[in-house]
Order: sequence, then C-alpha cells, then structure tokens
Amino acid sequence: MDQPLPNKIQIGVSGCLLGQQVRYDGGHKRSRYCTEVLSHYFDFQPLCPEMGAGLGTPRQAMHLVETDKGIRLRPTPKADKEQGDDYTDMMNGFICSCLGGLRHLRGFILMPKSPSCGMERVRIYNENRQVLRHNGSGLFANALMHRFPVLPVEEAGRLNDQRLRENFIERVFFYDDWCRIVDDKLTPAALLDFHTRHKFQLLAHDQATYRELGPMLANLKVNPLKQIAENYIGKAMQAMSRIVSPGANVNVMQHIAGYFRDELEAHDRAMIGEQIDAYQRGDVPLVVPMTLVRNAQRKIRQPYLGRQDYLHPYPDALGLRNEL
Ligand code: SF4
Repeated sequence: MDQPLPNKIQIGVSGCLLGQQVRYDGGHKRSRYCTEVLSHYFDFQPLCPEMGAGLGTPRQAMHLVETDKGIRLRPTPKADKEQGDDYTDMMNGFICSCLGGLRHLRGFILMPKSPSCGMERVRIYNENRQVLRHNGSGLFANALMHRFPVLPVEEAGRLNDQRLRENFIERVFFYDDWCRIVDDKLTPAALLDFHTRHKFQLLAHDQATYRELGPMLANLKVNPLKQIAENYIGKAMQAMSRIVSPGANVNVMQHIAGYFRDELEAHDRAMIGEQIDAYQRGDVPLVVPMTLVRNAQRKIRQPYLGRQDYLHPYPDALGLRNEL
C-alpha cells in the first residue's frame, strides 16, 4: 500500500474502484466520486484482495459456494464444467497477513457484489451452480468488518444514495476525530471533551443511544478508562450509522435555536424558524436552515454551541447538506 499523506484522512478502498486494472478480466470499476471528489479529502489506500492472494489478472471470475466446509471461494465454472480450484485458503492467508496493517484506516469503501469485497447482498451458490441466497459478504469484507467493528465501511454503489453518502462521510470524520484523541493518549478529559463536541450529532442520529452515552461517562473511575472508551465508541458508532431523519434534524436545530432566544433579534429568530419549517416540509434542503443557524452562532458566539461538530461535521465543499 502507498505511504500515507500527512493531512488527509486515510481510507481503504477496493483497488478496482480507483481505476487499478485488477479485475478478473483485466479491467477496473473506477469510481468518479472517489477519484474526483473524495480524493480531495481522503488519502485512498487501494487494496485488491484477489491480487493480494496471488490470483493474478486476468483470471477466472470467482464466486462463493456453500459447502460442508463452510463458504468457499472458487472460480465460477463454465456451463457444463465441473467445479475447479478452490482459493479460499489462499484468500484467508492473505486476509490474515494484511488486516493487522489496516489499523490506521478511518474507513473503507468496497466494491459491491464481489465474492471478496462485497459488503452485503453477495450471492452464495450451492455446488450445482444454483443461487442459494443473496445475503452473503465477500471474504475480505466480512473479515474486515469483524476485525474492525467500529470502522465506517460502505460500498461504492451505495454512495450514490445521498443519505447513505452523507452518513458514511460524517462517520468517517467522526471516527477520525475519535482515533486522534485515542492516538494522542486517551485521558478522561479528552473523552469527556469528545462527547461534548459530538452531543448534537449523536442526538440527531439516535436519541435513545444519546441518552445512554452520557451516563456511561458519568463516573470514569468505576472501570478502566480503556474499557469505558471501547464501550462508548462501540455504541456511538452504532448510533452514527443510523440515518438522521428530517424530523431529528428539525428537533436539533430547534434545540440550538433555543440558545439564541434572548440574544438574537426577533426577525432573525423568525427567519430561522421559517426556514426550519420549510426544511421540514421538504421545500428547502438542510443547508438553508443550517446556514442561518450557523450565521446566528457566528454573531452570538455561544461557547457551548461553538464546539458542536453538528454545525460543521465535514467540509462544506462536499455539498452534502445541499442534497438532504
Ligand atoms: S472487487 Fe475487490 S477483489 Fe475484485 S478486483 Fe476489485 S478490489 Fe480486486
């Protein structure tokens, strides 16, 4: 893998999505969103598990087969031919050797449907070449998600959905922030500060979990800090993976607007309220009321709000809130 660049967030990606000619037919599946948009913010670390396992290119296409010995990675046989070789052990060997080197990653974008990289809905066949089910995961993807359960992982195809895209990118920035405080030597103060900065994001994603997370940090002496932090981030990342509904955004923005009640002029307050209502009706995108809320915060400089990542969860230039 390439050496990391200093300032961008390190993200793993299926190599074919970056345009690497590593597919079974010698082709690629270049994702323009990854290479032309996200590459401004993410330092992509390409990885092709099938090439890493030594399968070379061109090669026979692969598929997953359910057998007595579990799920196997095998070449897709031509019609009327017997099942051929079995590459499961080679793939598992590669996976074992490479996963430890992926700890620095803050997210992973995977190629859909692949028997190695597919995150979900990968076809599983029986030994007679019949589809048994459509709910498998590629061998590499499955191992990645088990080894790093809080790592944001998404498929390239799902990034075409505006809500899933926004959710994945928000999770990457959230998780990157978390990793930075852990890498800097986690302290009780840093953990509490992280929670404070992300409170409104967590509230927007999952109100029930938000209410659990605060009490988890109420007494940081009751258990080792590392254990509390692992429990915290496990729950927090789960909450962050929930898509924020428009109603939840309305709730959080109204909550924020409450902080301005005494200090903002009446017509500014009215404008914020009108645009929150317009967003709730679906007349304007989230960026409209959010910009007014941010401008109000710029004027008032309320210290607690000034620290909330909810107002600035990722770079504006990504334009994600223009589409929600
Ligand atoms: S889907 Fe994964 S294994 Fe297949 S070519 Fe792309 S990177 Fe390689």
